[in-house]
Amino acid sequence: MKNLEISPGLYIVATPIGNLSDLSARAGATIAAADLLLVEDSRVTGKLLAHLGLKKPMRPYHDHSKEADREAILAMLADKVVVLVSDAGTPLISDPGYKLVHAARARGLPVGAVPGPSAPTMALTLSGLPTDRYLFAGFIPSKDKARADLFEELAGLRATLVFFETGPRLAKSLAAAAEVLGNRPAAVARELTKMFEEVATGTLEELGQRYADTPPKGEIVLVIGPPGEDEAPDDAAIDAAIDEALESLSPSRAAKEVATRFGLKKNDVYARVQQRVAS
Ligand code: SAM
Repeated sequence: MKNLEISPGLYIVATPIGNLSDLSARAGATIAAADLLLVEDSRVTGKLLAHLGLKKPMRPYHDHSKEADREAILAMLADKVVVLVSDAGTPLISDPGYKLVHAARARGLPVGAVPGPSAPTMALTLSGLPTDRYLFAGFIPSKDKARADLFEELAGLRATLVFFETGPRLAKSLAAAAEVLGNRPAAVARELTKMFEEVATGTLEELGQRYADTPPKGEIVLVIGPPGEDEAPDDAAIDAAIDEALESLSPSRAAKEVATRFGLKKNDVYARVQQRVAS
């Protein structure tokens, strides 16, 4: 939907992540045209409506909302303008909406979006880290094992990594990331578009030390750079991973898994697997 006119359908509308002036004219116009706003928290969206001088019917929506609620919303899309907003930023980005958009698309119902603020992309662009390939991985798990497993899973990826984190847990995550990913360059982007906006850059270890005794306040995005060329895995590490994978996988699957883990070409790893199987 190009939204030259606001016809019935579902609209995913991005709202500010701090500074209300970031609400686009089109976002305001779409909210003004809404027959119904789907919201996370009506108190939060109520403040945005007050800022716009609008009053609109609001209904809470979460992806764990009942199927019957979703059906009722879908039934409205043929002749009503239904606008999905989250408390801040772009809906569906670690926020509700995926199941609704999926269901609307599956039925061929009209879905449009008004793009705008989103903390991960703003943090990425401010980080000074490579932007050509990046992976947004949502909130870092709070449990030690789950956190380490996530970093292990992403270790071989040749991409900048973007996460949400909280102040009290930041130092622990920086230390865990340094241990699994190596001491990569990183950025901590805090309170974006707000009065105390700050972007701190340094290596994971430097940032870990900086925040160890003074957890930062406010909302945080952690951006971690890709592995450097000089950190390419050594042959012994690749061979050890191949031997371990071959214990439970076929040569082809083992090559695929090891290639993914180390960010290598599958054919190169497969040749190495064959050498090890033959020797
Ligand atoms: N959908 C939102 C978006 O597009 O930005 C993200 C929602 S997620 C539930 C909330 C998390 O986003 C926060 O815990 C924080 O990690 C990050 N965040 C949101 N606003 C932020 C801001 N102004 N500065 C830094 N991080 C922010």
